[in-house]
Amino acid sequence: MRLSQMLFVTLRDDPADAEIPSHKLLLRAGYIRRIGSGIYAYLPLMWRVLQKVSQIVREEMNATGAQECLLPQLQPAELWKESGRWDTYTKAEGIMFSLIDRREQQLGLGPTHEEVITTVARDMIRSYRQLPLHLYQLQTKFRDEIRPRFGLMRGREFIMKDGYSFHADEESLKATYQDMYTAYSNMLRRSGLAFRAVEADSGAIGGSGSTEFMVLAEAGEDEVLYTEDGKYAANVEKAVSLPADAETSKFTTYEKQATPGTETIDKLCQLFNCSPTQVVKNVLYQTVYDNGITALVLVNIRGDQEVNEVKLQNELTKIASQFGAKAIISLTVPNEEAQQTWAAKSLPLGYIAPDIADDYIAGSKTVHSQFVRLVDKTAVDLQNFVTGANESGFHVVGANWGENFKLPTAVVDIRKARPGDRAIHNPEQTLQSARGIEAGHIFQLGTKYSQAMGATYTNEQGEEKPLVMGCYGVGVSRLAQSAVEQSYDKDGIIWPVAIAPYHAIVTIPNIKDAQQIEIAEKLYTELNQAGVEALLDDRDERAGVKFKDADLIGIPFRIVTGRAIANGKVEVVKRATRETQEIAIDEVVNTLKQWVKAATEG
Ligand code: ATP
Ligand code: MG
Repeated sequence: MRLSQMLFVTLRDDPADAEIPSHKLLLRAGYIRRIGSGIYAYLPLMWRVLQKVSQIVREEMNATGAQECLLPQLQPAELWKESGRWDTYTKAEGIMFSLIDRREQQLGLGPTHEEVITTVARDMIRSYRQLPLHLYQLQTKFRDEIRPRFGLMRGREFIMKDGYSFHADEESLKATYQDMYTAYSNMLRRSGLAFRAVEADSGAIGGSGSTEFMVLAEAGEDEVLYTEDGKYAANVEKAVSLPADAETSKFTTYEKQATPGTETIDKLCQLFNCSPTQVVKNVLYQTVYDNGITALVLVNIRGDQEVNEVKLQNELTKIASQFGAKAIISLTVPNEEAQQTWAAKSLPLGYIAPDIADDYIAGSKTVHSQFVRLVDKTAVDLQNFVTGANESGFHVVGANWGENFKLPTAVVDIRKARPGDRAIHNPEQTLQSARGIEAGHIFQLGTKYSQAMGATYTNEQGEEKPLVMGCYGVGVSRLAQSAVEQSYDKDGIIWPVAIAPYHAIVTIPNIKDAQQIEIAEKLYTELNQAGVEALLDDRDERAGVKFKDADLIGIPFRIVTGRAIANGKVEVVKRATRETQEIAIDEVVNTLKQWVKAATEG
């Protein structure tokens, strides 16, 4: 492609609305253009990158025996009602764009395709002989994200590869899951990315497990905890660890003490000169279930620990049926305004005790009249602890479960693992922290959708069984941008060769020099013929401008038909290292071919 004929517009300055380097660079270098909130045009250079990533994804998927298909983006509401997700997706979470057609039928724009694929499987899979089966697609997804940001990282319209596998049993699912683990690792490695596969939260479906593939970058929205020995890595939402040992309490008798101005654990411990590990902290949450029922939740946890709200949400989802609900819409720490909607009297905030009475709640049709009481494991074994007295300005000390307070029956593990904690697999290892961009997520679904939607098969014994499912997603557009987030310098993007829009750019410093043009044209043609994808900068611009642009758009190899041509040579510059060398004109094509091959192999 000739730059003179391309839509090639670069910006000198950083666009105002871009926050992270990759977003700024893709805008400045003319790869993307913002059309609306979370909506972008992929311009020609970007589209080539996306196609390269897609091709790598395809090759890795096909290698596992999965088959490509294309499912509809317009999805009838009925399917989502069958799975029970219509209301949560369109109203509660509100992530799905929905519409009504001219026949007054409700439709959604696909944010994901479990419902569609399960209905296909229900219709077409009859027998164990057809299993296992794995279908995938590469397609634009729509999600009405609460906070679209960072360009392609969190768009409202983005490209995803999603795959769904069907199995007769868990064992077969696990085998495919392992294949996907390898395929996903290959995709990211081949795309030139530094990444980490981490244990991930699989929500309340729980059990069978899931893995996220995190591209390591400071701008990542996720925190990853890992150990140096390489044996443990997990999303902080899921991570587990050993808490520090609790100190022995110095209080031996149970008594109430005046502790004015100690709403926080810090202040309380300062006053008592005690360790937060001797304190039972009582944290109030408010959750709204998908049937509109609000429940108030009291969590008891050791004073030095924090609640992991993802784990808490999973626990509350497990008990949703007690409230006649299926899922959770929101989980918050109730502020004053929220408290006014249910509090029967003013709460002793900062001084709440584990036995705070249910009559603080004005129960109603929509507000459950009792606290959901959960105790975290870290608080269970404490003796002679300090905790609130249910009275502003007072705490109790020397308290014990069973004597002064009833231990809640629901003992749960909802503490947040933190950097510096000891690892469970080996207490000599401590957790380290890194930031990551979730590029992919593989997931053992089990029978959630097949059961809800009645997708069954007949096994060897002639019994009808629900299909066992897995699902596997990789964000193609997010992955492409995360490559930039991982690889740039002050002058611009540094694409990994495998996903660069072009391998090489032939720059003519002086467009008035016939010999420069002739050699450049020849190299340009021959490179492309040899499979080295080349651009030709034949614009009538100063050499300096051309070099700046080549750096900005991040093409791996630049070939300059400048002064060296007098000696039968051209200057060749590697973008990543700035390494410059003169190469004989008739060796250029072969050399570049080798370089590209070396950089993209395997
Ligand atoms: P996140 O936690 O970042 O919202 P998710 O858990 O919703 O991601 P999945 O539903 O597992 O993501 O989708 C699979 C992949 O699609 C993700 O790993 C990510 O790479 C990509 N993806 C998800 N949401 C977006 C988005 N809004 N914009 C771009 N890519 C996305
Ligand atoms: Mg999401």
